[in-house]
Amino acid sequence: MTETEIGSIVNRFCASPRPMLIGDQWLEATDGGIIDVVDPATGQAFASVHAAGAVEVDRAVRAAEAAGTAGPWRRATPVDRTRMLWRLADLIEQHGAELALLTVREQGKPLGLAEGLDVAGSAETLRYYAGWCTKLEGTTISASLPDERPPGALGPAYHAYSLREPVGVVAAIVPWNVPLLMAVAKLGPALAAGCTVVLKPAEETPLTALRLGELILEAGFPPGVVNVIPGLGHITGAALVDHPAVHKIAFTGSTEVGKRIVAASSHDLKRVTLELGGKSPLVVFADADLEAAADAAALSIFVNSGQMCFACSRLFVEAPVHDEFLDLVAARAAAMPIGPGDRDATEIGPLISAAQRDRVMEYIRSGTSDGAELVAGGRAVDGDGFFVEPTIFRNSNTAARIFREEIFGPVLVSSPFIDLGDALRLANDTTYGLAASVFTKDLSTAHTMAGAMDAGMVWVNCMLALDENLPFGGFKQSGLGYEGSHQGVAEYLRSKSVVVQL
Ligand code: NAP
Ligand code: MG
Repeated sequence: MTETEIGSIVNRFCASPRPMLIGDQWLEATDGGIIDVVDPATGQAFASVHAAGAVEVDRAVRAAEAAGTAGPWRRATPVDRTRMLWRLADLIEQHGAELALLTVREQGKPLGLAEGLDVAGSAETLRYYAGWCTKLEGTTISASLPDERPPGALGPAYHAYSLREPVGVVAAIVPWNVPLLMAVAKLGPALAAGCTVVLKPAEETPLTALRLGELILEAGFPPGVVNVIPGLGHITGAALVDHPAVHKIAFTGSTEVGKRIVAASSHDLKRVTLELGGKSPLVVFADADLEAAADAAALSIFVNSGQMCFACSRLFVEAPVHDEFLDLVAARAAAMPIGPGDRDATEIGPLISAAQRDRVMEYIRSGTSDGAELVAGGRAVDGDGFFVEPTIFRNSNTAARIFREEIFGPVLVSSPFIDLGDALRLANDTTYGLAASVFTKDLSTAHTMAGAMDAGMVWVNCMLALDENLPFGGFKQSGLGYEGSHQGVAEYLRSKSVVVQL
């Protein structure tokens, strides 16, 4: 397909307000609620979607419940689920060009990143989980229960075993930074486990989720197994969290909203998994390959314009090479072309919204007023789009807000350290614990740091190395529970123990 043909498909998809998916029906909002979707590169609304109110939330949850409890999804065999997940992965690839362009329009990232991370990443994630459907098992358990049978009875007195069952209806609530992949990261393990899902995409990025809904029906998933309901967090999201027929909430987003969800779901003790924010450190020792470390440092904080939960936004460099290293990173920042995601050369796209740009600019101002030295960037780009230059601060005051709070923008702050103990103290001095990266050629330093850093994911001489077979979950206020690996699937299963007296 040519670029023009793909553009026309996307334009057609965006031509009229998109309805939401409940069961196999595409429904409009009964209360007339509509949300505009804005292109962050132009600041202009280019599409709109129907937003779910309390009525639609209830319908979607009931559709998911009906498909699961006694419905077609309960009767689907594990291998049926594998086939459907695999088919969905194939469909995502077949429609990859269109999904990538839709991602660029609603989210802003460079097209190549949308193709590699959002689209190819989603297909591979689904294929990974497709394999798990046929590998779930309980155990037989040797129980120490008294044998009260008459002497001479044969065999064990009891047969005890565990069953693993889907937890039920899952509310998947996701953010806007990698919208398709964030949705699929919930759908993959939930569907592999046999759950049904109501997906609420972020208000800024509902389009890829709705297109995914069409592909889900095309892949053959029975009606109601996946429902897609765009809407506002405090209305649609909150109603989902509150709904008595939702059994589990799978949330990715900010720590602040994560805490609110835990509080709101406590009245009926729903299961909750949370993938939250971060303020991850990147630690560079003087013996490291400084060029490779500088590539990693720049990519980690500037990819997707810094809107990545595991972005290494705090840089700690061994004192003798600190300034030299910062110059290397600053040179990389200066060489990254800023522009709309559909322009070939672009490496830095816009931030998601005017509000996010303003928030990031406020942090940049606070950095300067807290006494940090601006080494690169620092300005918003004039015009209607929401662009901010890749920005680097040198700062020895690690109590400053830019050192402590998640900015979720292209802002790096750096400080020198004296020795390993100092590096560890600085790296762990945060309320977050999502990821950490360390660069050194010394094996002992590498493993000591990896063992002592308080983060759920540690990269040594690399960063952003992710694989679905690795458990991913934040320590401290970065999360609760895991995604990826068998641990990620287990979050969607419950164990039932059965004891049979023979
Ligand atoms: P957010 O504001 O927390 O929103 C996330 C989702 O929650 C959105 O769908 C939002 O809806 C919804 N929501 C908001 N208030 C709600 C409520 N009271 N009840 C139920 N749902 C509610 O986060 P964001 O700004 O979209 O995303 C950025 C954050 O996500 C950052 O902190 C980042 O670190 C984190 N993140 C973490 C990971 C990870 O894997 N650990 C990955 C990506 C991002 P609306 O869109 O309508 O507000
Ligand atoms: Mg939001």
